[in-house]
Amino acid sequence: MRSELLNPLFIEAGALEGVGPKLMRPLEKLGLTRIKDIAYHLPDRFVERRAVSNLDEAGVGENIIVALTPSEHRAARGRGPFRVMAADEIGNICELTYFGRASYTAKKQLPVGEKRWVAGRVDQYGQTLQIVHPDHVASDPQALLGQQREAVYALSEGLTQPRVAGLVAQALGQVPELPEWIEPGLLDRRKWPNWKDAVLLAHKSSDARARDRLAYDELLANSLALMLVRESNRSRSGLPLAGDGHLRDKLTLPFTLTGAQLRSIAEIEGDIAQSSPMFRLLQGDVGSGKTVVALLAMLAAVEAGAQAAMLAPTEILARQHHATLMQLAAGAGVEIALLTGRDKGKARESILMGLLDGSIDILVGTHAIFQESVAYQNLALVIIDEQHRFGVSQRLMLSQKGRRAPHTLAMTATPIPRSLTLAQYGEMDVSRLDELPPGRQAIDTRVVAAERMGDVTGALARRLEGGGQAYWVCPMVRENESEDIAAAEARFAELKEQFGEDVVLVHGQLKPEVKDAAMERFATGGAKLLVATTVIEVGVDVPNATLMVIEQAERFGLAQLHQLRGRVGRSDQQSSCLLLYHGALSETAAKRLSVMRDTNDGFVIAEEDLELRGPGEFLGQRQSGMPEFVLADLAAHRDLLILARSEAGRILEKNDQNHTNLLLSLFERDSAVKFLASG
Ligand code: ADP
Ligand code: MG
Repeated sequence: MRSELLNPLFIEAGALEGVGPKLMRPLEKLGLTRIKDIAYHLPDRFVERRAVSNLDEAGVGENIIVALTPSEHRAARGRGPFRVMAADEIGNICELTYFGRASYTAKKQLPVGEKRWVAGRVDQYGQTLQIVHPDHVASDPQALLGQQREAVYALSEGLTQPRVAGLVAQALGQVPELPEWIEPGLLDRRKWPNWKDAVLLAHKSSDARARDRLAYDELLANSLALMLVRESNRSRSGLPLAGDGHLRDKLTLPFTLTGAQLRSIAEIEGDIAQSSPMFRLLQGDVGSGKTVVALLAMLAAVEAGAQAAMLAPTEILARQHHATLMQLAAGAGVEIALLTGRDKGKARESILMGLLDGSIDILVGTHAIFQESVAYQNLALVIIDEQHRFGVSQRLMLSQKGRRAPHTLAMTATPIPRSLTLAQYGEMDVSRLDELPPGRQAIDTRVVAAERMGDVTGALARRLEGGGQAYWVCPMVRENESEDIAAAEARFAELKEQFGEDVVLVHGQLKPEVKDAAMERFATGGAKLLVATTVIEVGVDVPNATLMVIEQAERFGLAQLHQLRGRVGRSDQQSSCLLLYHGALSETAAKRLSVMRDTNDGFVIAEEDLELRGPGEFLGQRQSGMPEFVLADLAAHRDLLILARSEAGRILEKNDQNHTNLLLSLFERDSAVKFLASG
């Protein structure tokens, strides 16, 4: 139950003055649907303005407040701006320019001959001083004194700065006082304001103390939630699985396991032999050999008389896992079935029967394997592949399946920096596959300007003639899906012209059958070149593919580039990756690409990624990894993260239910709130 104290914060944004259906859409886009979201929509930065008595005192590019008297209005010509010529008190002339509809208001606000106070950025255009779209115009200097430091907020289309500032002001007016959940000693040491003051202050100044306190709150809530989930998980009972090795002994693996694989398997065996359920994350770079670790864990479960299930994020991957497992486990005589959303009718019925009567030992599939209608005889181990696609809530849902909690092994190919593992997966134990199977060669990676397309297709032609296969990746970003698909299709047509029928295309808008057929042709060697948007990001395994071209590589994040590149370099042959960039590179983009060129180690890349993203960029990256955090910037707040974890431990020990509940509700760690209530 959410504490009543928080009610004012959860009032819908629509209740604010001036917010109608039209404004709701851009607000929703920013995630600002309730008072609390708006209050927590902290400024990206602040503009500092200096009040000057004339323009001689102002530097070019400076934000100022100055008194000006308009002398002339110059109407817009064609698509040109509307201009107001205005003089400061010593006769310097400044041009105030307005484009589009803003000129109507300007005309009224700046009547000729009347002194006005103007806030804005002075620029020089040839010999002329200019302020383009002044931020504020007032007839009374008092009105602008409060604007010497002004917050700048993230916007979405349909919103303006003054609009957002107005909504923030309204929301802040409704922010209640909340009881303090931070221990007084800590508050004192850090000189942190109380919650309400911190929220108000964070909108007025860039004072780190206010922001830190709010970020800390969020990290604390997150830590509490993860710890509670962990606790609740431990308190449920699972089936102790002590495999005797009789199935695993029958395997004839085509390789010897690496030290890291052996260590991880031992850790898993240790966990599942317990009656409290395992909750373990297996982190390992692409190609580090997670699948065989999963198989050995599942076989241990089957040896102990139970069933295991393996969940894959996509249809393609589920099929591939199924095929791989069948192959690896061929000698063991276990029944491995595949179930995806596409299985209907009789085929599906017979799988459901097999699960229920226990004749199926291992089930591989997409989320279809956890639908209500799917019942297992004795499911005791769940493997989740490519963990990052599943949020905390899905993880929880899974652990709720069945009377007893199944042991859970999550696997991710995104090597997460150590400092972030805790924040994202704090409820789990972690095994790391930090050693690649022997004989792998580093992928030769080059950064190439797109103008050198001829060289690129030349290298591609040589590779294909030599019997190799290749990937050609076109970018895909959410905002502009159809345009990106059009670009991928155009590239496909071009490459097909050059390389003939050996080229196939895969992208997100194709029907699953079409997509699978193309993938199938590529996987079996029938097609030599696969042109794709990032749908191949996860898991596809075609060892004969030894070249990857990534177009507009500057648009990808490091983690994504690393994942993509991992599709090649899967055999003993030298593989290459060409990172094509278009136009001039920003400094960060250039650094990202050079990190890719210089290292193949996913854990190193993850740490670099964290450094390069730096403060601020995290907010824009929400969808690509850290949906959990709105206020905390994990790159900047690592010390707070550590502090939050130790404090969360103390709070739980004291069993301080009121404060815990308040904080979890404020940050909507609802699942954890439920656990708190039931425990
Ligand atoms: P991941 O899922 O971690 O990306 P996979 O499990 O798909 O990696 O393994 C990548 C490739 O490496 C597979 O072809 C697999 O057969 C092979 N492999 C796994 N472990 C070893 C090992 N110890 N020695 C040699 N090859 C291995
Ligand atoms: Mg894998």
